[in-house]
Amino acid sequence: MSADPRRQVPRTDSLLADPRLAAAGERLGRGLVKGAVQQVQQRIRDGELAPPDAVPAVLAALPGTASSLRPVLNATGVLVHTNLGRSPLSPAAVAAITAAAGTTDVELDLASGRRGPRGEAAIAALLAAVPAAEAAIVVNNCAAALALVATALGQGKELVLARGELVEIGDGFRIPELLASTGARLREVGTTNRVTLGDYRGALGSATGAVLKVHPSNFVVRGFTRQVAVGELAAALAGTGTPLVADIGSGLLRPHPLLPDEPDLQSALAAGADVVLASGDKLLGGPQAGLVLGRAELVQRLRRHPLYRALRVDKTTLAALEATLRGPLPPVQEMLAADLDGLRARARALATRLATVGVDAVAVDAEARVGGGGAPEHPLPSAAVSLPASFAGSLRRGAPPVVGYVEGDRTLLNLRSLPPSADDDLAAAVLAVAAS
Ligand SMILES: *Cc1c(COP(=O)(O)O)cnc(C)c1O
Repeated sequence: MSADPRRQVPRTDSLLADPRLAAAGERLGRGLVKGAVQQVQQRIRDGELAPPDAVPAVLAALPGTASSLRPVLNATGVLVHTNLGRSPLSPAAVAAITAAAGTTDVELDLASGRRGPRGEAAIAALLAAVPAAEAAIVVNNCAAALALVATALGQGKELVLARGELVEIGDGFRIPELLASTGARLREVGTTNRVTLGDYRGALGSATGAVLKVHPSNFVVRGFTRQVAVGELAAALAGTGTPLVADIGSGLLRPHPLLPDEPDLQSALAAGADVVLASGDKLLGGPQAGLVLGRAELVQRLRRHPLYRALRVDKTTLAALEATLRGPLPPVQEMLAADLDGLRARARALATRLATVGVDAVAVDAEARVGGGGAPEHPLPSAAVSLPASFAGSLRRGAPPVVGYVEGDRTLLNLRSLPPSADDDLAAAVLAVAAS
């Protein structure tokens, strides 16, 4: 042993020249590899690592991609989990993003060589999926769609909306604050629990810019309550020229049999809303986007507003949205549709596989949720693998990370929020934790 371990630390140049690290540098960028090299050199100086192990240690410390976002197995039972990136995209949408990520014909008509309309195919797919809509635009998210509507229709005017619909969506995002920030004045009608058509009528006047209906996505009010449906409002506004805008939130295209209280784009427009707003990455199961559908003249007005340019989406979002609408059912929709027997069979198979090698694992029934601020009253029946509580943290820190939840003294890995194709990875992750 040399007295001074620092003398044995391999030089940065010679490590970076190693063919394995040079290849990693091409893939990830030299900066990332150099950072990992410096960490490993420090570990050698500290006597934690032998110099011959330097290159394998650098390789082990490198991330899989140049981005630090990692794929996570969502075993929370929350299908649209905001902290886990909401909707997982379908393989078709992922392939579409990859194809569009480079140079692409997003605004060029290849046949004529002239400039083409941006995102035309994604818009056509939206209109095909929602026949009641005459026109559509896509912006960054539903909050952006609200900001655009409030600015274009409500700035310097009044937006009439029910007091019970002044909602907070999550993480401090309050819809009334967003609306007011655009310079629109909020004209609140009714009380927290009750609003009537007469309340709306009493608020309409020359200052009215639009009437807004916001779906209270993440809570319900029960008891002595009354709301005015989109259809009733539309009938009352007919012929007045006042636009009726409905923010439905979660973005179902059509009514869903399992989620009777969740509004959908087609029904809201058919009931008479002039413009409907929804998120692309909640129940639609697509990329983050704000969908704006409705009457051609109003949608055109929103598209021509200067703010639209600041809120529009990029080519990869357009590609993913079109593939979500035209391609196979996205994962969120498959998870919603998964039948309980199938989920139980997966839980049993996984638990048996783990128990045979000595892991304390059993299959149990559990409840799943739509999440993302949707269908708060509709738990979905599900099945889970139950493990000792201590697994939760280790699984979360594992590779790949698995996010479950602790109930009592057990960690539950809920299967409704995971595609069946993830079961092998899930089993491997649990076995890795059990072995450590
Ligand atoms: C989720 C939600 C929003 C915000 O949507 P983002 O796409 O997250 O911006 C707005 N309104 C309603 C009713 C919602 O449920």
